[in-house]
Amino acid sequence: MKQRLFTPGPTPLPEDVKLSQAREIIHHRTNQFKQVFQEVEEGLKYVFQTNNDVFLFTSSGTGAMEATVANLLSPEDEVLVISGGKFGERWTEIIKAFGGKVTLLDNEWGKGVDPLLVEKKISQNPEIKAVFTQLVETSTGVAYDIETLGKILEGTPAVLVVDAISGLCAQPLHTDKWRVDAVIGGSQKALMIPPGLAFVAISEKAWKLVENSTSPKYYWDFRKARNALAKFQTPYTPAVSLICALRDSLRLLKKEGLEKVVKRHAELAQATREAILAMGLKIFGENPSNVVTSVALPPQIDEKKLRKLMQARFGVQVAGGQDSLAGKIIRIAHLGWMDASDIIVVISALEMALLELGYSVELGKGLRAAEEVFGEFRGV
Ligand SMILES: *Cc1c(COP(=O)(O)O)cnc(C)c1O
Repeated sequence: MKQRLFTPGPTPLPEDVKLSQAREIIHHRTNQFKQVFQEVEEGLKYVFQTNNDVFLFTSSGTGAMEATVANLLSPEDEVLVISGGKFGERWTEIIKAFGGKVTLLDNEWGKGVDPLLVEKKISQNPEIKAVFTQLVETSTGVAYDIETLGKILEGTPAVLVVDAISGLCAQPLHTDKWRVDAVIGGSQKALMIPPGLAFVAISEKAWKLVENSTSPKYYWDFRKARNALAKFQTPYTPAVSLICALRDSLRLLKKEGLEKVVKRHAELAQATREAILAMGLKIFGENPSNVVTSVALPPQIDEKKLRKLMQARFGVQVAGGQDSLAGKIIRIAHLGWMDASDIIVVISALEMALLELGYSVELGKGLRAAEEVFGEFRGV
């Protein structure tokens, strides 16, 4: 059976990306590689909307989160973490592992960020060196208002660090314009390539912290990464095949245009939400993102059974809830290489599976709502 991923990473792969990984490996200390890497660096700057250096690491996204902590902070440094889900918690765990002192703005899962509270915390504690948060908290589907956080931190000594691993290319993000000092990205989300690469864009303001950081690091040292990048190299052997795949996916993104890519994600997200509501279900969380839609399940529906059925019968894989949300939500990702037809497939599978599990839904109701959104967007 054809398998279809609607998970917030990994995401489906375009044909060009699959094919570029089938090519013969090239050596990384060659001009041929340097040319590829130069194009990748330019493409990354474009999707991050920055003129800052974007470092590339061979790791999953969490590696680049850890690298950012290791390079920006020193032990005992005071930081503020704005958390509202699994990935916010990850920031706290990493920072504590490096001896940082965390002030936690611990939002209820599904809630947005209150900028006034952030402003208060920052003015109460001028020792805070950095504020850590997410562009999209993938465990809940909530998008955070990074633009406002950038305005709050502008003119303060604190840097703004944003895990944009899931949000990059799906949610609006203007790294330089919004004054985000460190932005983290990952390969297996809207960048449409397999897991294994992670990225960090670093501002000059953040670079001052890098120069003063005393935390231990070796492989992850941004100073080494910067020196190598000046020659379109990485300090150590990178995942060459993934970088070639990334060059090809960045070409696709550039051809479509970033603004249109983000708009496409917004449209897919809206159609998904309308469909869910039309089926009599609820969306979990405030300010739902373009990345993933969290669907609050009625209590009589067993989340595991539902996902298993969707997978077994229709080859459709959606994600469940994590930790406190386990069993309570499913998460439908509309991320990366996706279009209107994909949404029709996932909504259809959900309607049929729910009906089979005894939830009373009129078949086609969700589909119709999604179709109406697509018709409207396309002017049909
Ligand atoms: C996917 C994701 C990560 C990274 O997870 P890895 O498994 O390390 O790639 C981090 N933050 C967010 C918000 C994510 O969606």
